Amino acid sequence: MQSQIPRLEIRNLTRRYDRRAVVNDVSLRVMPGQVTCLLGPSGCGKSTTLRMIAGVEMQDSGEIYVDGRLICDTVFRVPPERRHIGLMFQDFALFPHLNVAHNVAFGLLGNKAEKFARVTELLERVGMGRYIDAYPHELSGGEQQRVALARALAPKPSIMLMDEPFSGLDNRLRDGIRDETLDILREEDTAILLVTHEPQEAMRMADEIALMRDGRIVQQGAPYNIYNSPIDRSAVAFFSDTNVIRGTVRGALTETPFGHFLAPGVPDGQDVEIVIRPQHIKIDFDRNGRGPNPTPQDGTPARGVVVRARFMGSESLVEFRMDHDGSILKATVPKVFLPEPGKALWLMIRRDRCFVFPNRRGAV
Ligand code: ADP
Ligand code: MG
Repeated sequence: MQSQIPRLEIRNLTRRYDRRAVVNDVSLRVMPGQVTCLLGPSGCGKSTTLRMIAGVEMQDSGEIYVDGRLICDTVFRVPPERRHIGLMFQDFALFPHLNVAHNVAFGLLGNKAEKFARVTELLERVGMGRYIDAYPHELSGGEQQRVALARALAPKPSIMLMDEPFSGLDNRLRDGIRDETLDILREEDTAILLVTHEPQEAMRMADEIALMRDGRIVQQGAPYNIYNSPIDRSAVAFFSDTNVIRGTVRGALTETPFGHFLAPGVPDGQDVEIVIRPQHIKIDFDRNGRGPNPTPQDGTPARGVVVRARFMGSESLVEFRMDHDGSILKATVPKVFLPEPGKALWLMIRRDRCFVFPNRRGAV
């Protein structure tokens, strides 16, 4: 199979403010018809990256390519309006004094009839055909967002840059608009680079996630891989609550109150952190000989006392204080499970679902 040329590629992009690299050697590819998501906490450099791609800000080093052609390095620079890049931001601000039709037609070339045809086509696409004469203040947030999408799509951009575009919408609207927006963009074969600080949004929308931290991409891959093979403890914690158990490696094993954990390739004496998501802590309801023994996967049960239990909607979150060291462990249990504080229960850890990382601070 012939390898596809990325629609958008950035290579070694760096941007400094006051000598601090806020974007630090970032490389990324976005394929046509695909959604790549730049995911990271606020301030990690996502918007700055997007602004450089859009051409409204210059990098200190690195290159940007569209369809394999250089559009920007530190010497050569295609101006923003000639990059065929569409933009959608959270404050998508439609022009308040223009009606919907004129807002969508704003960046379009061609004669009046051609523009009108494209405007009506797009408004139909986003389900806003009947609002063609309306003014922005007459529309709800979700409707304005649809018009903004139509406006961004009107010049047929080959790349769409979206910077937290859905964060201004309330939850109920958001899922629907998100999915519709993606369907429309995919039909147009646009390459999408979406920026968000919300892991759920990234998981829901992205074909590929690039996890960003302090100006760098620390991990990149399909959502499934990012979630299930996180590169370090922070990468786990970014997606969910975590529990951490500390131990020291002896003979490629770490012994804990929950039994042995494998630590292949980790040298003797190295301190490690075993990181477990709350949904992978199992409560051993059969502990008192009423059922089967735990499987080898589940290791040795350890006892804890319920501190607090809360119902979260589709699951319950139970916090335990562990007998062996007084630490707190969080477990989620499907549906309703609200044991009284003070109740003792036995907990097990799904060994195939936990992550063992060297504890750098504790390293010898
Ligand atoms: P994100 O979009 O991930 O929240 P930004 O790209 O907006 O992050 O910002 C990254 C860092 O760069 C932040 O620490 C921010 O304060 C800083 N920054 C952004 N723009 C400027 C600027 N024009 N001058 C100085 N610092 C800036
Ligand atoms: Mg930002």
